[in-house]
Amino acid sequence: MKDAHGRVIDYLRISLTDRCNFRCIYCMPEDGVCQLAHDDILRIEDIERLVRVAASIGIKSIRLTGGEPLVRKGVVDLVSAITATPGIENVSMTTNGVLLPAMADDLKRAGLSRVNVSLDTLDEAQFREITRVGKLEDTLAGIEAALAAGFDPVKVNAVTVRSLGQDFLAFAKLSIDRPLHVRFIEYMPVGNASGVDGCGWGKADVIPSEELFELINEQAQAQGLEPLRPAGGSRPIGWGPARYFEFPGAQGTVGFISPLSRHFCSECNRLRVTAEGRIRPCLFSDTEYDVRAALRAGDDEGARAVLYEALGAKPDEHHDKVGTERNMSQIGG
Ligand code: SAM
Ligand code: SF4
Repeated sequence: MKDAHGRVIDYLRISLTDRCNFRCIYCMPEDGVCQLAHDDILRIEDIERLVRVAASIGIKSIRLTGGEPLVRKGVVDLVSAITATPGIENVSMTTNGVLLPAMADDLKRAGLSRVNVSLDTLDEAQFREITRVGKLEDTLAGIEAALAAGFDPVKVNAVTVRSLGQDFLAFAKLSIDRPLHVRFIEYMPVGNASGVDGCGWGKADVIPSEELFELINEQAQAQGLEPLRPAGGSRPIGWGPARYFEFPGAQGTVGFISPLSRHFCSECNRLRVTAEGRIRPCLFSDTEYDVRAALRAGDDEGARAVLYEALGAKPDEHHDKVGTERNMSQIGG
């Protein structure tokens, strides 16, 4: 399946819910977003149908996200159903990790291929400041559970926000002794356009990846570590848009994802579906296409037509758009 700009689109990110057990300051307001009514959210059978239709037109990879995907009831069975769908080659998940100790083994058995855990700091007080309600030990336990369940690779995603003053070297060093793939993501201007969400993105808070790379290397050398070098050999599967490096001899890698300082729009391979079944051709665009009605009517042809319509509307790039009407928790990151 190719879009109007010649890009092969074979990756679908599905938001399973807009609800979350955290309230990260860059993702949603303190009192949460106005939550969708139960009936508005795609049912498990709607999602299964969506995946079948998407696979029939060339989608091969699915990522489950949210809100927090693990708070969605029936998620393990959904993973089983998706992995059993002809044409789907892998199913991955982005999670804050809190529920992984209870669910990682079942998810692995259900066929989940890979897991990304979001974690922005190793400092307990700062973790509470960022997530507003979370405990660092819970997310760390989630990472351990993912490794123990045999997920490989386990990626740890950190959003970098200048005014937070995170300790990036401490983070990068997580990749040395464990097979963890740490990825730094530039803070993106998502949300705020509605003027009511209070997520507070500002350009001054963006740390361009090049700057961060230099900073980590300077600090590493000051501690007697050799600098990061381009990752060789066995790169983590699901490489995505990150550029990867490693400390010599490290078990894992350090990646930089630069949606702002180094657009990867020309390599974009994805569509996104919100929890209530709207297809977003681009993270930064508020144009959405409703696929829920067709799914609920059992109309595969109709759903396919909506997917093609959204595909046809994929812009060539995001043109540095600032702000979207939805928060990240509503879109699914
Ligand atoms: N709750 C899950 C989690 O946190 O992994 C999945 C959903 S969350 C919206 C997906 C990812 O988006 C997380 O890694 C989160 O850090 C990231 N994210 C949220 N808001 C962001 C922003 N403004 N810029 C960059 N990344 C953001
Ligand atoms: Fe929840 Fe993930 Fe958003 Fe944090 S980033 S509030 S964990 S959806």
